[in-house]
Amino acid sequence: MHIKKQRLLTPGPTPLLPRALHAMMASDVHHRTQDFQRIYRQVLADLKVVFGTTNDVLPLVSSGSGAMEAAVSNLFRRGDKVIVCSAGKFGERWVAMTKAFGLDPVVLEAPYGSVVSPERVEEALKAHPETRGVFVQASETSTGAAHDIQNMAAAVRNSEAIFVIDAITGLGTMPLDIDGWGLDVVIGGSQKAFMIPPGLAFLSISKKAWERAASCDLPHFYFDLKKELKSAQNGESSWTPAVSLIISLGEALNYIKELGMNKLIENAQLLARATRAAVVRLGLELFSPASPSASVTAVKAPPGMDSGVIVKAFRNDFGMIIANGQGSMKGQIFRIAHLGYFDFADLFAVIGALEIILHTHGYPVEFGKGVAAVQSVLAEAAFPKVTVGA
Ligand SMILES: *Cc1c(COP(=O)(O)O)cnc(C)c1O
Repeated sequence: MHIKKQRLLTPGPTPLLPRALHAMMASDVHHRTQDFQRIYRQVLADLKVVFGTTNDVLPLVSSGSGAMEAAVSNLFRRGDKVIVCSAGKFGERWVAMTKAFGLDPVVLEAPYGSVVSPERVEEALKAHPETRGVFVQASETSTGAAHDIQNMAAAVRNSEAIFVIDAITGLGTMPLDIDGWGLDVVIGGSQKAFMIPPGLAFLSISKKAWERAASCDLPHFYFDLKKELKSAQNGESSWTPAVSLIISLGEALNYIKELGMNKLIENAQLLARATRAAVVRLGLELFSPASPSASVTAVKAPPGMDSGVIVKAFRNDFGMIIANGQGSMKGQIFRIAHLGYFDFADLFAVIGALEIILHTHGYPVEFGKGVAAVQSVLAEAAFPKVTVGA
């Protein structure tokens, strides 16, 4: 037996920010008091700063899917034609959700590991000018691929449709200029780049999207965005909020503001780039080589090896929790996350462990090769040479 620190290295939940975790201990605040209102107002203001938008940003007590559902049930009408980009398990969730609420989705599908191009969205909008909404994942966490949100937005912007983006692993890992690009609904989740436990979802809502809320005829009650906005304007949430998570979020938002959202994004992008360099150097194949996301890197297991074996060895031998593939990708790929509170030392550990795991399971590895690739990328990007004597 050796000491194994548990390291949570999945693309949600992600590693927790210690000061946000400690803040949760001061949760004995009643939610209908001025003390809580002060905290809540600050969180609402800071969410806008971190999202980088002047649009309203509302928190909901749910996992990310709750905010996805709220967007569907509050901003559309039964039978509305919508375009859904589906390139993985989360795209399939949009398809299922829009159907569940009686919308009429045109599904633009891309094989797992690829993405839907902005041109396809543009063509679909031309073919269906009555389209009321376009749905997509900024980062498709199940495959490690990222969509070209900026160019999709340019296509959607001049149409009647609102652009609804599941950015649950996109926020904090890729630039998303909500106001500049015209992103109508942008959805985030607490257990991703926000560095706190699961239980809160966020969504920003543009003026164009709010106009849709006025004519919505779909049933909703708990997730009532207009009611939630009114409550927020009074420094409150409509229902009992997850007080502990809101307090924790306040601390995490402070940290992200100090660091800078652009630095958080840069951090994930650098870790992702170094990870790709390392696994390729080790002779492994990326699952989404053409449009890799910075939130998570999906890697194919070597031929003849079940990726579950790798995931299990990470857990049992190193205390590291990494993600297997989802659905039909299970056993085929493993996924290393970079979003939120991940640092360079985490990555040395992951790639060092990966080399040992591959070696133990009969895959030829020259020790240090992957780690060296990480070192090269990081040294060049983040550690300028110190001139002796200067
Ligand atoms: C994590 C995640 C979600 C939300 O899943 P929940 O379990 O509801 O939090 C949705 N979309 C993407 C792309 C995700 O990564």
